[in-house]
Amino acid sequence: MIPPIASRFVAAETATESLDYVAELNRDGIGGILNLLGEHYQTREAADEDVSAYLDLVEQVGRTELTACLSVKPSQIGLDAGDDVFRENLGRILERADEQGVFVWVDMEDHTTTDVTLDAYTEFATEYDGGVGLCVQANLKRTAEDLPRLADVPGKVRLVKGAYDEPPEVAYQQKKHVNEAYRQYLEYMFEAFDGGIAVGSHDPEMIDYARELHEEYGTDFEIQMLMGVRTDAQRELAQQGYEVNQYIPYGDKWMSYFYRRIRERKENLVFAARAVLTS
Ligand code: FAD
Repeated sequence: MIPPIASRFVAAETATESLDYVAELNRDGIGGILNLLGEHYQTREAADEDVSAYLDLVEQVGRTELTACLSVKPSQIGLDAGDDVFRENLGRILERADEQGVFVWVDMEDHTTTDVTLDAYTEFATEYDGGVGLCVQANLKRTAEDLPRLADVPGKVRLVKGAYDEPPEVAYQQKKHVNEAYRQYLEYMFEAFDGGIAVGSHDPEMIDYARELHEEYGTDFEIQMLMGVRTDAQRELAQQGYEVNQYIPYGDKWMSYFYRRIRERKENLVFAARAVLTS
């Protein structure tokens, strides 16, 4: 069981309980993006276990009326065991998801994985006619060239600031440069894409900018935030009529994800300390 202290950021250990959480979230007009916690499996066997779990999840989601999709990490489904393992496993998940009418996002990991992830996405988005989405990172300089390549691919693209420490040769290091790039890339997307834009950020400035760009270009977009982060804002935006989807981690590997969340922000640390003191 997820202890109460971590349950703000992680839905549950099992898919079934996580879907109960999604049902609650849907009542507030917010969709769920389910992510089974796990990454960097070195063997095909370890990756295959999570792939099986995702195949079951797809079936479970497919049997419900929930507004829910999933998001998978390349290294969780076999990238560290080989590019071919990753592609094969992504193909298996997408085939089942296509049968069940479930949308699948592909998370983006560090810059050494960008090419293979982008190539696989481009190929599968065409094969499954847009039933798949890809995350791209504003801190990476190459995103300026990747976005035009993605503009005509029939899928969705989530723009995030980037969560990985990257070398200065490939990535902006200062927050203000990453924010500038985020704005530039977002404007390009609203101008050049037909829709399918996901603003993956908690930053009120970026959300406001997306709203302005929507007014200017009319391009459809959705907002994506993490479970446990700016939850009130998520509800408010949904009430205002924006499409909001919450990224929901679940599974038994919740410990390291939870520590990452509380380390990244002072408020989260205070929240955790308060939860310990009052439990
Ligand atoms: P930040 O620059 O961290 O913060 C900007 C402002 O946002 C803050 O000043 C504050 O006003 C507000 N804010 C931020 N956090 C909080 C908080 N906890 N509480 C209250 N206000 C807050 N990264 C990847 O590299 N690959 C991925 O595949 C990926 N997928 C993601 C999917 C989703 C749905 C989301 C939301 C993020 C994802 N990320 C991913 C992480 C992303 O790259 C950033 O590291 C993360 O979102 C922090 O950046 P930010 O845009 O939220 O704003």
